Amino acid sequence: MKCIICSNKKFSIVWFDRIREGKNLFSKKKVKILKCNNCNLVFLEKKITKYENNNKSFRKKFDGESTINKYLNFHKPREIKKFKSIFMYLNFKNKRIIESNCGYGVIIDYLKKISKVTAGIDHKIYKNTLKNRKHEHFENIDEVLNSKKNFDIIFCLSELEHKVKPIDFLKKIKKIMKNNQSKLIIRVPNYDNIYKSLIGKNFLKYDFRSSHNFYFSEVNLDLMFKKLKFRIIKKLGHQEYSINHLLTFFKKNKRVKEENSIKFFNDKKNKEYIEKIQKNKLSTSLIYILSSA
Ligand SMILES: [Zn+2]
Repeated sequence: MKCIICSNKKFSIVWFDRIREGKNLFSKKKVKILKCNNCNLVFLEKKITKYENNNKSFRKKFDGESTINKYLNFHKPREIKKFKSIFMYLNFKNKRIIESNCGYGVIIDYLKKISKVTAGIDHKIYKNTLKNRKHEHFENIDEVLNSKKNFDIIFCLSELEHKVKPIDFLKKIKKIMKNNQSKLIIRVPNYDNIYKSLIGKNFLKYDFRSSHNFYFSEVNLDLMFKKLKFRIIKKLGHQEYSINHLLTFFKKNKRVKEENSIKFFNDKKNKEYIEKIQKNKLSTSLIYILSSA
């Protein structure tokens, strides 16, 4: 076995225990999670393929039910919030935009008015609703490649960690970009985040899940993009929860909902700390803006 990013053959076991399999479900068997000793890429020893196509069973398992409304309630505020922090770095005017793993299409909806073309890649259950709102629909990246269409801005915001072969997927994405003009925006959960540093095992217990094949961090993402000849235009830390949430989790030593956090700090202080966390790339997610070549 070789590391998919750096080809190193030496690994350490970072986890050999039950992992999360759904909302409040844990696996019956122990699952092994490995880390590359060279580039620190963390991954499931046995890749899980059944969630690859972002299908109905995935939604059902992780969102409770597989309806579009449920999807929307769960994802809309998060999606727009994620999106806004990168908005200022992009120009959408007259651009052709596509979002991979778009679901209901919250982001492309938001960009519809200011861009030229909007398209989404996702399971066919979203086809009609996307088309009704004048978005193009593709079931997968191969279908986009076959169409010979290319795009100026490509979003890939919660996908890479689920892939069985993320390198192959990125190579395909690169083919729908126009040489050094198109921009690819990738968001991935950051393995080296402040929750892991502060809380450790009790955080990982909830964080390791059967739908994630990979747990990336800055060093291996940089290396992967370099190897695939992407140019990093911008790299941002993105923290999804407040400092009060982090400290409440730490104090109680168990996972809490954001709204149930103890108010250790006011909004101003919170913002200040979150900015520091993001700046130091200790955030829960990392966002990359890339161009090809
Ligand atoms: Zn490696």
